[in-house]
Amino acid sequence: TQKFKSGLEKTSSSLAGAMDSVFSRSKIDEEMYEELEDVLIGADVGVNTTLEIVDRLRGEVKERRIKDPAELQPLMSEILADILKGEGDSSDAAMNLQENELTVVLIVGVNGVGKTTTIGKLAHHYKEQGKKVILAAGDTFRAGAIEQLQVWGDRVGADVIRHQAGSDPAAVIFDGIQAARARGADVLFCDTAGRLQNKVNLMQELKKVHRVIQREIPDAPHDTLLVLDATTGQNALQQAKIFNDATRLTGIVLTKMDGTAKGGIAIAIRRELATPVKWIGLGEKMDDLQPFNGDQYVHALFA
Ligand code: GDP
Repeated sequence: TQKFKSGLEKTSSSLAGAMDSVFSRSKIDEEMYEELEDVLIGADVGVNTTLEIVDRLRGEVKERRIKDPAELQPLMSEILADILKGEGDSSDAAMNLQENELTVVLIVGVNGVGKTTTIGKLAHHYKEQGKKVILAAGDTFRAGAIEQLQVWGDRVGADVIRHQAGSDPAAVIFDGIQAARARGADVLFCDTAGRLQNKVNLMQELKKVHRVIQREIPDAPHDTLLVLDATTGQNALQQAKIFNDATRLTGIVLTKMDGTAKGGIAIAIRRELATPVKWIGLGEKMDDLQPFNGDQYVHALFA
């Protein structure tokens, strides 16, 4: 939780300062609510989600007959934590890890969002838990992507299954599954290409990869994680919608949360997508990845 807190420092210092100023106003009035809306939208909470939060706050203020703005801070924390819980139960933030058989995790996302780094961090995380991890270099579009995954594989001690640049991603991932079985691996992370410039190709490629995985293991991929860059703000939501159309996402990884003061994007994503945020990236190093927890997040922002 210390890591969580320091990684979210930029967001928390900007948000907490702005909230303090809102809640130190002399009375609860229309102006105060408007200022609060500006603060939330400024932190990338998103317009729809902001309006919902402020509506809920108004409702509570009325119901509890609150007069003093200073009492609103804990109320805000409550509302945010509740929104982050979402409709489902909070355990959906956990990974769908299989016991005593191979878990296949597909990683998708646009180039540059931190996909390779995230795979390296996830590999490290599961290695630390004593799992045998294999990586499949399914982003065959860029030679650099294959090399970069190899660097991470060497760094964390995970085998990398790779073909030449330009080869069929589905074939690489097929080989990844065979290798993972032969070597008794617990988790296989599959990298994929992420060029949005050609949406039709991207979707076809993802569908083919999906088919190949399912032919080998009917209930796989056990997780399909979309990696999003928190610093791209509302753009990230757009990307999520496109990938959601291409494949069934089970979770989001929100990277570079350490690099933005607009970490409120996690709230917008939780609210506007049906997919839970499962991990957040808080830096470039291998242990800078944390399982996302809504309560810890709200606590890091305001406490
Ligand atoms: P890819 O093209 O999606 O595979 O992206 P990369 O994994 O190569 O990452 C792009 C850049 O973002 C690299 O310089 C990474 O070190 C950096 N990066 C990735 N995740 C994080 C994060 O959580 N925090 C910070 N500060 N940088 C990150």
